[in-house]
Amino acid sequence: RVVVVGSANVDLVVDVPRHPGGGETILGGDLRRSPGGKGANQAVAAARAGGADTTFVGALGRDESGELLLASLDGAGVRTDLVGRTAAPTGTALITVSPDGENAIVVAPGANAHVRIGPEQAERIGAADVVLTQLEIPLDVVLAAGAARRPGAVLALNAAPSRDLPDAMWAAFDLLIVNEHEARDLAGEAADAAGAGAPVDPTSPADPAAPTDPVDAAEHLAATLLARVPAVVVTLGGAGCLVAQRGSAPVRLAAPRVDAVDTTGAGDTFCGVLAAALAGGSTLVDAARTASFAGALAVTRPGAQDAVPTADEVATFAHP
Ligand code: ADP
Repeated sequence: RVVVVGSANVDLVVDVPRHPGGGETILGGDLRRSPGGKGANQAVAAARAGGADTTFVGALGRDESGELLLASLDGAGVRTDLVGRTAAPTGTALITVSPDGENAIVVAPGANAHVRIGPEQAERIGAADVVLTQLEIPLDVVLAAGAARRPGAVLALNAAPSRDLPDAMWAAFDLLIVNEHEARDLAGEAADAAGAGAPVDPTSPADPAAPTDPVDAAEHLAATLLARVPAVVVTLGGAGCLVAQRGSAPVRLAAPRVDAVDTTGAGDTFCGVLAAALAGGSTLVDAARTASFAGALAVTRPGAQDAVPTADEVATFAHP
């Protein structure tokens, strides 16, 4: 069983010839409206991965966007009975995409600021094998979710979007999943907390000893992060991912080569599929291998939740 505690957003996407500056109005392409938000994306990915009973704990407004999200979650087979409905509008991401594929994003959190861990949510979390959270909801909700898990369950944090974490928070997590930017931010913080002082970035280009290869750099960052959490997975886009666990040598997994169409949701797909595989009894390395195939498939399709592959699609892709 998997419980994902996190955000749900409707993504409003417009292609633009270039991003507007302050005070400027620009004409773009037609509006696309699709279900997103890191928490909901990861729940959809865990459910589509098959096998795992997946619950999403989050909050939606009592509006049309809330219905769009519910339809997407339900359609993927996610249990939505513990999703709160609030007076605040459903979280919304305003996204403009320039011709070179660069996104500019503003998120209006709305209902995501009102996610609640009540008795029913705590009970479902307490029955889960894997509890997966991110940082698009208030930190106290993330902590409350962690506190509700049963001993022996895996509490995983996808530390996205990057933000400072209080020292006390680290001790709660069994597994950290980050991309290379988030790894760099958190490793800087970890080095600071350890009293290493400046430079705070262990892979700073100013440091002549810093590795230049991204996988070497990730290994370096993961080693720093292992001081605070027992296991770390660093995702590296087209370069795959790195699995680091205390007491064993780090494992590098290459990503399959694909034609990237839209990288939105690749990281979320990775996290959700990883959680489902762990709940199914896979080792962390095997779970990350499956997740990296799923993440690669997700970048071949547009959208976030709409791009998440099924277990069959991942299996066919991994073993054609
Ligand atoms: P995020 O979206 O959080 O930045 P990444 O870009 O690291 O996360 O992507 C997560 C995972 O998705 C990667 O570890 C990899 O398995 C897969 N992936 C992402 N981009 C590509 C790509 N261009 N080619 C193949 N796989 C990819």
